[in-house]
Amino acid sequence: MDALFKLTDDWQELLRHPTLVPFGMGRIGRRVLPSLRKEFDIPFLIDNRHAGEEIAGLPVVSLADALQRMERCRAKIVVTTMKGAYEEMAEELRAAGLEEFRDFCIFERFAEEWHLRWKNECVLAKIDTVITSRCTLQCKNCNMFIPYAKETGDFPFERLKENFDTFFDSVNFVYEYTLLGGEPFLHTELGRILRYLMERYGERIGRINLISNGTVVPNDALLSFMKQHDMTVHISDYTSTVDYKKRLAAVEQALAAHDIEYYVIPNNVWKDVVYPRDTYRAADPAEHMRICGHSTHSVDDGKLYWCDPAFAAECFTGFPSRPDDFLDLRENQRVNDKYQASLQIFRYLLGDVNERGCMSICERCAGIGRDNNIIVKAGVQVGKEDDPIDVR
Ligand code: SF4
Repeated sequence: MDALFKLTDDWQELLRHPTLVPFGMGRIGRRVLPSLRKEFDIPFLIDNRHAGEEIAGLPVVSLADALQRMERCRAKIVVTTMKGAYEEMAEELRAAGLEEFRDFCIFERFAEEWHLRWKNECVLAKIDTVITSRCTLQCKNCNMFIPYAKETGDFPFERLKENFDTFFDSVNFVYEYTLLGGEPFLHTELGRILRYLMERYGERIGRINLISNGTVVPNDALLSFMKQHDMTVHISDYTSTVDYKKRLAAVEQALAAHDIEYYVIPNNVWKDVVYPRDTYRAADPAEHMRICGHSTHSVDDGKLYWCDPAFAAECFTGFPSRPDDFLDLRENQRVNDKYQASLQIFRYLLGDVNERGCMSICERCAGIGRDNNIIVKAGVQVGKEDDPIDVR
């Protein structure tokens, strides 16, 4: 068996008895639940904070209650959360006598490993695509390096269409497809892009998300289409630094009027990744990438990048990526059969990106891991005081 695989063989039983219990009903859990329910029987949900409630018609129970119920039905648990929060939840499960990869695992691994091993399908938990480098803000410490782009503009529809086609030539299903920028609501052809994705690949996408800064009010036709297809908007709120509270309220009002699911996430602090300033060098780039955890995964022009900043550094600032920094999906498909091509994608997304163990940009990007203590105010605009909070 490939050493990349961790799930015990009895996870295969899910093919015959597809009962699964999600643990964690935060944003990720709620977003992926509808897709999980199409494939698996979900008797209840686990979330200590929401125990006693119902979510999507399913009872939510505490972990202690769940363990009692599971004495009768020994279902596998998928922890639907971000990598950062996973360790704490995994500890709780271990303390209750459960074993990682035998009894539970994080959602991303489950989605990718289980479908590959037992269904020969390439299924991803998530993918991002940048659709524009135009933005209403010019944040000095933007992780996508937008203010440092040599030129800005919307990605042409034809380029995006080809990218989606190439991606779905390799990938059977993705639970969450996120479009971002810049500010994605600035793209003059956003409606056409979303329509293409839904008409062509709607059955193979669990949910489409858009990441916005809440400065652009989408028009009614676009909002109606988004509602019709259950899209979600994530709003990064920079109003603690930039004065646009009224505009943000108007955006929220428009989304609420169309009953669109949205989250407003206050962004008060960021880590300064230093790049494109040329003052950071990682002592051990492979270890630095491993602990960074910016596992956003981006696809553009048929190239898969482990994190969004790696894509952005190359695309917007001309960073000279090496050919083994990204996975060329067309080439991967040309030289491999379906299973091997999917395995390469799985390997890459696990962080096993190449023989050096890291992307070249990780040598110059300070990342967002625990080895970067440079905390700055989020949303500070180019030309304004940076006001560092804690500089190492
Ligand atoms: S250190 Fe590497 S993995 Fe982390 S954000 Fe930077 S480029 Fe991405």
